Amino acid sequence: MKYVVLFGPPGSGKGTQSENIIKKYGYGHISTGDVLRAEMANNTELGKTAKDYIEAGKLVPDSLIIDMLAKTMDSFADAKGVIFDGFPRTVAQAVALKDMLAQRGADVSVMLNLIVEEQELINRLIERGKTSGRSDDNLETIKKRLDTYNEQTSPVIDFYKEDGKLANIQGMGSIEDIFASICVELDK
Ligand code: AMP
Repeated sequence: MKYVVLFGPPGSGKGTQSENIIKKYGYGHISTGDVLRAEMANNTELGKTAKDYIEAGKLVPDSLIIDMLAKTMDSFADAKGVIFDGFPRTVAQAVALKDMLAQRGADVSVMLNLIVEEQELINRLIERGKTSGRSDDNLETIKKRLDTYNEQTSPVIDFYKEDGKLANIQGMGSIEDIFASICVELDK
């Protein structure tokens, strides 16, 4: 079974490319952002806690995210592969994922790192904000999310580089061309 980390800053196309991967490869998928938004919509305790972090452009604490992930891992037992979308976002989360997979005799197969220039990210997220209904797709929060990415999330790249799992993907250009580069990595 392939375990794929789909990584990149906010607006780099993780959600879009996850859909493409699911269609072509039939992998299971977990987006921690989607799970948190569902928790918020259902007004659960986790959702209420997460809301303040999300709207401030900050990361939800590692312990909550790791617990959330641990609860879903077993649901993928029969999948051909799994895409982790928007997780891990800190080195602590990457270490926790490695441990969870090791307990199952597995490991991350590849980390796909979508590379997109910052101004392009801002343009995309502002555009998305016009229709997404997401309370964090506004310029002020977008800038905070990018700062959070640069400070807390980008070190995850080095973690996977050292682990021999890093595959950089040019994330600018047509969705089809970007997906073709992803397929090259997934077919290896
Ligand atoms: P996303 O949908 O991936 O852009 O995530 C939206 C927001 O949810 C992020 O800005 C964070 O506040 C929170 N979030 C999603 N995934 C994580 C994660 N792995 N660790 C911490 N916070 C997360």
